Amino acid sequence: MSSYKTYLTYKPYRDFFNDLMNFIFASDCRVCKNLLSSLEEKYICKDCFSKIEFITSPYCDKCGKILVESFKEIEKPICKDCYSLKRYFYEARAVSIYEGALREGIHILKFEKKVGIHKPLGDLLVRYLKEQQEDLISRIDFLIPVPLHRKRFNSRGFNQAQLLCDYIEKHLNLPVILDLQRIRWTTPQMNLGRSERLQNIKGAFEVKNKDTISGKQILLVDDIFTTGATVNECSRVLIKAGAKQVSVLTLARGR
Ligand SMILES: [Zn+2]
Ligand SMILES: [Zn+2]
Repeated sequence: MSSYKTYLTYKPYRDFFNDLMNFIFASDCRVCKNLLSSLEEKYICKDCFSKIEFITSPYCDKCGKILVESFKEIEKPICKDCYSLKRYFYEARAVSIYEGALREGIHILKFEKKVGIHKPLGDLLVRYLKEQQEDLISRIDFLIPVPLHRKRFNSRGFNQAQLLCDYIEKHLNLPVILDLQRIRWTTPQMNLGRSERLQNIKGAFEVKNKDTISGKQILLVDDIFTTGATVNECSRVLIKAGAKQVSVLTLARGR
């Protein structure tokens, strides 16, 4: 051991050793293909993460859908979908559009199961909440991740929404509770249309302990908002269990 240390304290050897390590472990950013420059960077470089643009107004006050510029003159604009659909959540907000580095990051987390990437993704959520949703975080009693069915949890090994909640809890001091459960197995929503999604997800969730939910303002957290069928069903169940208000936060949403 001592000879190893002596070897590394001699600068030319040390530099050679570092270069060698960089050479062996070097990898490219999945998005821009530039070499990752530090050990903190994994899969996607800081530069690509910093280019993810937050959704800013005008967007639907209910579901967060991006609206055309002319809506900017309306104080709390509502999109066509939210006029016709029953939304149980008070508001849904997403950090950015599901594309580019954000889409890649979510894929790396969910499908490649590289949990380390939840940190820069969690960081996006924290920055977004601090910079864009101060009012929302001031109202929240606690966070609830959209739960996975036990079968899916066991095959993936983690719940991505829960990892993101834990990151927010750590950095914004908002407690996480796990009283929402997925009681019915459902096929992935990904390949279904809107009405099929609604049918598929109905009755999939249950509140474990109504006492902790009753009268509370909840922030429901998930990775992607597509049609909103999943978060709407979770919200319906939470409201039925006595929650005062349910807001939704996702990393990404569709256009
Ligand atoms: Zn990059
Ligand atoms: Zn809407």
